[in-house]
Amino acid sequence: MKKTSTVLLLCLAMVSLNACGSKKQTTASSEKKERVTTTNITTDSTTENQKARTTEVASSIEETVAHFNGNYYSVQGKYGEVVIVNKKHPLSASYAPGENPEAQAAFWRLHADMQANGFALSNHYSGFRSYETQASLYDSYVARDGQGNADRYSARPGYSEHQTGLAFDLMDAAGNLLQEPNAVNWLAQHAHEYGFIVRYIEGKEAVTGYMPETWHIRYIGPEATDIYKSGLTLEEYFGIDGGGYE
Ligand SMILES: [Zn+2]
Repeated sequence: MKKTSTVLLLCLAMVSLNACGSKKQTTASSEKKERVTTTNITTDSTTENQKARTTEVASSIEETVAHFNGNYYSVQGKYGEVVIVNKKHPLSASYAPGENPEAQAAFWRLHADMQANGFALSNHYSGFRSYETQASLYDSYVARDGQGNADRYSARPGYSEHQTGLAFDLMDAAGNLLQEPNAVNWLAQHAHEYGFIVRYIEGKEAVTGYMPETWHIRYIGPEATDIYKSGLTLEEYFGIDGGGYE
């Protein structure tokens, strides 16, 4: 009986997945499918649990929910998949793609143009970081500043955008994270032309989960321009959950 209804739900989810065209509906449907799969795994759950999960499925349909593929969460953007990492959307510990070549090429184009515009940048930067590297980095910040403070500026292991190979921290000529006002103004206005967004912007800590970081850029591709023009954070633009840890 329970199994039959689960299978039925799964079929329904798959039918609507194929039928739906719009971004929002497709995302909702994939989530529906995902939750149903979860239900399948926990078949020994009680009828009440089953009911609760079914209600959850129904209530999640109107939201844009990122899909987890076993390594990372993503949403469907205008030009393809957009990886989502924040305090509500972790990566698997074993996910270690290295630096994304397309993002890296775009980073060096941006870097060269900033230097051509007279901004003194270091050739050193912080790009891809493995789960293990992030773990030791985060631990050192917690030891220095306490966990509450560290969580405002450093990601816990598995929660760093740097683990995707799509994020870069720009550094000034002295090797410090880039904060020089003219340089970061230029960056804020032009990063999108290279496919990047400045990920953690002023006044959005409650949404992004982090204090503003003028130096941290995240590669998106062409849709970076849409996001930039919207004035929204990545979370707000795609309508996905952000803020603090669960
Ligand atoms: Zn960063």
